[in-house]
Amino acid sequence: MSQETEHVKCLIIGSGPAGYTAAIYAARADLKPVLYTGLLAGGQLTQTTEVENYPGYPDGIQGPAMMEHFEKQAARLGTDIRFGYVTSVDFSSLPHKVIVDETKIILADTVIISTGASAKWLGLESEQKYNGFGVSACAVCDGFFFRGQDVAIVGAGDTAAEEATYLSKLCRKVYMLVRRDEFRASKAMMHRVMHTHNIEVIYNTEAKEILGDGQVVTGLQTINNKTNEEKTLDITGFFVAIGHHPNTEIFKGWIDMNETGYILTEPGSTRTNIEGVFACGDAQDHVYRQAVTAAGTGCMAAIDAERYLAAKEHAVVA
Ligand code: NDP
Repeated sequence: MSQETEHVKCLIIGSGPAGYTAAIYAARADLKPVLYTGLLAGGQLTQTTEVENYPGYPDGIQGPAMMEHFEKQAARLGTDIRFGYVTSVDFSSLPHKVIVDETKIILADTVIISTGASAKWLGLESEQKYNGFGVSACAVCDGFFFRGQDVAIVGAGDTAAEEATYLSKLCRKVYMLVRRDEFRASKAMMHRVMHTHNIEVIYNTEAKEILGDGQVVTGLQTINNKTNEEKTLDITGFFVAIGHHPNTEIFKGWIDMNETGYILTEPGSTRTNIEGVFACGDAQDHVYRQAVTAAGTGCMAAIDAERYLAAKEHAVVA
């Protein structure tokens, strides 16, 4: 396969709030940023509904609309936004080498990693088998298909609570499987779940197997992890909401990470262990994971990249 090569000053990988904010700052600093969107252009917020906690929107805003605003602003200021997926990197020398869609080689003076995080799965074979045929990790994306039906959701964090509430408006009944005898979700979210008449919370219970007819989901086998009692729920939709993992696999072996794959940055900066490579957003943040904190670290990454390039230029002149 022929390989096309291009040299850029600043390459941004990922198109969530972190990537677009980095792009806005990098473009205004004349770094002529090139941004590759990844497969889910706009990132996780394109899979959500109402965002009420992003400052500047007094009446709230839909996640996809907000990401369109981010994109438009980055484009207007001069970011070269491209649809493409980074398949590998080589950070062994400068400029850094980044391969897009296995064919295009980008040589980048600076790289900003803003690849975000993705949903976790339980790991059941039946979950894979029926993924897209009754199994989903995004209630907001797929809830619509289960209008008037009975569904189950697994998880007890804020995402699960939010998605259960969302599903309760569409579905006849929502079973919520909580593996311990308590929620992890915030009190406000939990309160909403407990006061929704068609959500039934089932504590100390896990999904044992998703049942189906070979084509679509027809039920769920659950197990109580205290009593080992098994039950079958008649459901047609099964939603997984048990957290996320960072999208950092392609950087393994180059960039220092913690044991769960979150990129390690120098405290108070977005600098990684590799010169000229910066990380921001959920790919390096397992604590806050908010759109506004991702945007904040995106801004930091662009400023760090700009200062790094300025210091290098200064060193050459001196
Ligand atoms: P969390 O990591 O907070 O919660 C994951 C949940 O899934 C936990 O309850 C966990 O159980 C459960 N879980 C994990 N693995 C399994 C398994 N194998 N089987 C059954 N249950 C399992 O992830 P969230 O996505 O909910 O939230 C991530 C972050 O985003 C949090 O900081 C949250 O506050 C924030 N958030 C904020 C929102 C908002 O403010 N509007 C909305 C959504 C998320 P256990 O408790 O037993 O560990």
